[in-house]
Amino acid sequence: MNFSSKLLETAVAEFAKLPGIGQKTALRLVLHLLDEDKEEVERFSHAISKLRNEVQFCEACHNISDQAVCEICASPRRNHQLICLVEDTRDVMAIENTSQYNGLYHVLGGLISPMDGVGPSDLNIDSLIERIKNTEVTEVIFAVSATMEGDTTIFYLNKKLKDFPLKISTIARGIAFGGELEYVDEITLGRSIATRVLYESSIK
Ligand SMILES: [Zn+2]
Repeated sequence: MNFSSKLLETAVAEFAKLPGIGQKTALRLVLHLLDEDKEEVERFSHAISKLRNEVQFCEACHNISDQAVCEICASPRRNHQLICLVEDTRDVMAIENTSQYNGLYHVLGGLISPMDGVGPSDLNIDSLIERIKNTEVTEVIFAVSATMEGDTTIFYLNKKLKDFPLKISTIARGIAFGGELEYVDEITLGRSIATRVLYESSIK
């Protein structure tokens, strides 16, 4: 692409770094911003830099939060005996959208994937064990995608957790859900949480 301006070229190159954004889309977005009021563009860039600088991760569950402890963990209306294990923040959002779950979460920050060099120590597992030791948790629900990485992670965690007095369950897996939790429709996801099954009985 030949640019008439170095500033334009730089901005397009930055946008094109975003996932799913090619050069043409990047150019369209940048030209759109040039059509906007300066104040509007200022708000846009301010929102992004503020997000990056000020966002926190809940010290209990690692979900994205505006405070040291997120609203879910801090809420007395939630069931603090239940922890749902998810891969990332998008899964928390997907499950919250179903309005079918009233417990807490623990965001693992990924799944075990030897192929990609992701091992247990790269995930928020130690803090999960500490939480289970030090809080009133009685049930842990696995809500990770039905992929090889998901299976490996569940297998590993189940071994880690089996000596605790815990009920370990998993959302219905292998039913018609196409991989990633965030893409499952809300009714299917809500139902699979409500009808979760004990992990041990799910693998026989
Ligand atoms: Zn939290």
